[in-house]
Amino acid sequence: MKIDLHTHSYYSDGVLSPKEIVEKAVNAKCEFLSLTDHDSIEGLYEASEHSKNMNMGFINGVEISAKYNSQSIHIVGLGINPKERTLQEGLKKNNKFRIDRAKKISEGLFEAGIKKAYEKASAISKTKYITRTHFAQMLIQEKICPNMSSVFKKYMTGKKPGSVKVEWASAEEVINWIHKADGLAILAHPLRYKMTLTKLKKLVNSLKILGLDGIEIVNSFSSFEDIKIAKMIADENELLYSSGSDYHGWPNQTIELGGTPEYDFGRKSVMDYLL
Ligand code: AMP
Ligand code: MN
Ligand code: MN
Ligand code: MN
Repeated sequence: MKIDLHTHSYYSDGVLSPKEIVEKAVNAKCEFLSLTDHDSIEGLYEASEHSKNMNMGFINGVEISAKYNSQSIHIVGLGINPKERTLQEGLKKNNKFRIDRAKKISEGLFEAGIKKAYEKASAISKTKYITRTHFAQMLIQEKICPNMSSVFKKYMTGKKPGSVKVEWASAEEVINWIHKADGLAILAHPLRYKMTLTKLKKLVNSLKILGLDGIEIVNSFSSFEDIKIAKMIADENELLYSSGSDYHGWPNQTIELGGTPEYDFGRKSVMDYLL
């Protein structure tokens, strides 16, 4: 079964509208799609209505920013009810952190000689949502940096001028919001947190105790080895397998919607619990 359970529209840091995402997924012959914008559920209605018209399976999703100890992590909620109030309130809180952070990033960049960064990054976003990748796109457009990874390296991580810590909601809260909205809580891209295997295993084990339901086993960046490791950690903690491209639609990117390697998830697939 071809599925893509991790994608972004312009209701976070993607380029396309929810409708365009659905069309791409249909063209890619996906049987099931989930739209999982960062801390945002605003595109879900448009995407689910259009999926119905196009006869493709759609799963309401969201990718929520969370903290466990001092580590920032992303927890994907799949099969959520977007009308659930606790989830809505929680996302509102995270978006307030986003705007506060964006203003601080802008102040940091100002110190580094880059003026009006907040205004310029906001202008790049087609919606009210602002992410670090809007700042990155702006710095690329202004020819201050050649690409995304150089922006993050030079300006937005560690002790760099636009690096700002955020106290996102705790992983425990986020898992509870997702469960209250009847969704499954999935740890996104486990191998992208730059943790040692021992630390990652500890993290997953702690999240399992807090109610985590699954792990993203496959995304567009997964090597064969990555998939093996993620699967092993999932099995050790009796977690479900999920997969998604993390498609954003930025130019010069090789990621395709529905483009994750097809994989036989067996009976541990989140799909068995979502349908
Ligand atoms: P935010 O949610 O605003 O913190 O932005 C996070 C997004 O920035 C991620 O979902 C990625 O799309 C992107 N990102 C984070 N770190 C990097 C990096 N080192 N290189 C390229 N993109 C990154
Ligand atoms: Mn993103
Ligand atoms: Mn993510
Ligand atoms: Mn993502």
